Amino acid sequence: MPGLAVIGHPVAHSRSPDMQTAALSDLGLAGEWTYGAIDVSPEDFEATIAELSAAGEYAGVNITVPHKEAAVAMADEATESARAIGAANTLTFRDGLIVADNTDAGGLLRSLPYLPDGERALVLGAGGAARAAIWALADAGVKVDVWNRTRSKGEELAAHFKVGFMEHPNPADYALIVNTTAVGLGGEDAFAHLPLTADSFVPGQVVLDMVYTEEPSALLAAAAAAGATTVDGLEMLVQQGALSMRIWTGEEPSIEAMRTAVRR
Ligand code: NAP
Repeated sequence: MPGLAVIGHPVAHSRSPDMQTAALSDLGLAGEWTYGAIDVSPEDFEATIAELSAAGEYAGVNITVPHKEAAVAMADEATESARAIGAANTLTFRDGLIVADNTDAGGLLRSLPYLPDGERALVLGAGGAARAAIWALADAGVKVDVWNRTRSKGEELAAHFKVGFMEHPNPADYALIVNTTAVGLGGEDAFAHLPLTADSFVPGQVVLDMVYTEEPSALLAAAAAAGATTVDGLEMLVQQGALSMRIWTGEEPSIEAMRTAVRR
């Protein structure tokens, strides 16, 4: 029975087990495949992955905070996107090898209503999620600017990916705004911490908030009220998870079944 799991620290509140189990059920694989959650501390990460790979019972794992960088570093092989981003959220155990991939990048693109290639996007943040967003958008021909609370980190990241850095961006200039910061996760006021106000948004704009909370975020509520199209973090979670499932099983899971499970 091929095993799958999400590995993080902490991981108990992850929505991936319910979501990926729904995907497996929909594919008719629930009797053969399982998907669980494994809490692994940073000190034990490499040894645990090596054991899972060697034991032959697991087909692969999703990787979440704080292990994404360690995952790509220890992999035997990595896709171009995982290498370029410097982080992996998907590992596949194949013929004794650990293969790293990053489906956050593709998942972000698939969660957008359209690809704004040739248009401008503002990425807020300079952590691991920002790296995936910047790489995915720039690679797809979008003109990216980065903003980050810690200016030096934002400038460094912008230089690394050869995109712009904005200390005081004008939100109305952008076809797409992506919040990759953790602001909102702990109930913080997005408008006190980000270079946005409640009336920053314009009709026709797309606003994606990677943070997922029980209620729609204040940021997305303001964007929707202004006539922008909004995409929440759960939609991106579904899309990145579907891409991982396709890598492991070779089949395209039902997005609708995964959406239903993740919003339950
Ligand atoms: P990370 O590497 O720790 O980066 C955190 C980022 O948030 C940094 O840019 C940090 O700025 C910024 N930040 C934190 N608190 C802030 C504040 N009070 N004001 C302004 N900026 C603040 O984390 P990550 O891995 O990139 O993840 C970020 C978020 O994205 C998390 O909530 C994660 O759950 C979410 N995410 C969602 C998905 C999805 O599928 N929906 C996928 C990946 C990640 P400084 O540099 O100034 O510290």
